[in-house]
Amino acid sequence: MHDVVMAAQVNPYHMAVQQFELAAEKLGLSEDMREILRRPKRELIVNFPVRLDNGHIKTFIGYRVQHNVSRGPAKGGIRYSPAVTLDEVKALAMWMTWKCAVVGIPYGGAKGGVICDPKSMNTAELERMTRRYTSEIAIMIGPHSDIPAPDVNTNAQVMAWIMDTYSMHEGFSVPAVVTGKPLSIGGSEGRNEATATGVLFVTRQAAKRIDMPLRGARVSIQGYGNAGATAARLFHNEGCKIIAVSDTRGGIYSESGLDPATVVRHKQERGSVVGFPRAQTLHVQDVLEVPCDILIPAATEGVITVANAEKVQARIVAEAANGPTTPEADAILFKRGILVIPDILANAGGVTVSYFEWVQDLQSFFWGVEEITQRLEVIMNRSFTAVAEKADHYHCDLRLAANMLAIARVAEATQMRGIYP
Ligand code: NAD
Repeated sequence: MHDVVMAAQVNPYHMAVQQFELAAEKLGLSEDMREILRRPKRELIVNFPVRLDNGHIKTFIGYRVQHNVSRGPAKGGIRYSPAVTLDEVKALAMWMTWKCAVVGIPYGGAKGGVICDPKSMNTAELERMTRRYTSEIAIMIGPHSDIPAPDVNTNAQVMAWIMDTYSMHEGFSVPAVVTGKPLSIGGSEGRNEATATGVLFVTRQAAKRIDMPLRGARVSIQGYGNAGATAARLFHNEGCKIIAVSDTRGGIYSESGLDPATVVRHKQERGSVVGFPRAQTLHVQDVLEVPCDILIPAATEGVITVANAEKVQARIVAEAANGPTTPEADAILFKRGILVIPDILANAGGVTVSYFEWVQDLQSFFWGVEEITQRLEVIMNRSFTAVAEKADHYHCDLRLAANMLAIARVAEATQMRGIYP
């Protein structure tokens, strides 16, 4: 409990701005440009009523934030959680801007969220909440303006409801308004696995960089949802040993390795990874501190802080989650020689395949999974190399290098477009 409270105290927007200032300083960005880029372009707060199955009406608070759209339409996921705050959504929107820029896809950054406890709601309530939230933010979203996608506690079904609600308002089907949809309504092959596949591609590159074989590497993963559980499966298939995983209720550890598919089944049946047979139980934060070769935070932001950065015992930290490491913890990990693959690079596979999905929807022409995976690998490898070269040039960590690369691209686009009017 203490650890969860500690993580929640980290303000993600302050973190994002701090990271931005570090990169802006190193780039020598003008104060005028910094003033444009450090704030989100648009912030929408919506309060909306939803009828619950018990007959009561509950008013929910939702957000949609667009950080920057200089390089293209805004893009970013929607999160359902009791812990959602406007500052969290603002940070996630800013990170989306840098993420799309670092991998060179033509989008700006956005994010959305609803303060709710999806675990206490049934499917019908979730559907009504999603449809009403979609209507409330319909003034911002659209296939050419702002395209949502799944994030924590949202999935392909939620995207289908968003797509259907938006389409009902328009009077015709608009599949390109969201990505991460089911295949049957214009989703893309490979989207479910895209985030974790991207994490694997850049981790391969990072492992080469430090001369560490992936086969036999011990992996610890925080979070066992779309990003975390899929990463467990893919890294396991790569020959790694998944020694620890966790979710909100706690973690499990096995020195001889866990079978990711069996853990998924256990979580489906019991609601948590905890209690998995023949595994030791860990506290929520312990997965971050077990001796391992690769640590994959895949849950939420602000979990590697000054309080535990000295205790991280990995050689590589591959950030599947957004914002898991605070700037102070970054400095500690860098000094300790731990290679951190920053979120905006490590988890960019998700938005990259979302981009492929959007392109396919707009063209009504669909690609096979091989083509998706090949194109994703090219983009992830090229982006890793560009970031690593910058880090070598500036003798800095990969986060600063990635932020410098991304922010320079966004600043250039902003400069080229000029200040309207
Ligand atoms: P998800 O809802 O599918 O899974 C989240 C998992 O994290 C769940 O297992 C949950 O129990 C666990 N969790 C939440 N808080 C935790 C905590 N404090 N400690 C331990 N476990 C905790 O969400 P997801 O889509 O896998 O997203 C996870 C992270 O990856 C988020 O930071 C998200 O922004 C990032 N991400 C996701 C995608 C994507 O395509 N889904 C893309 C890029 C980045």
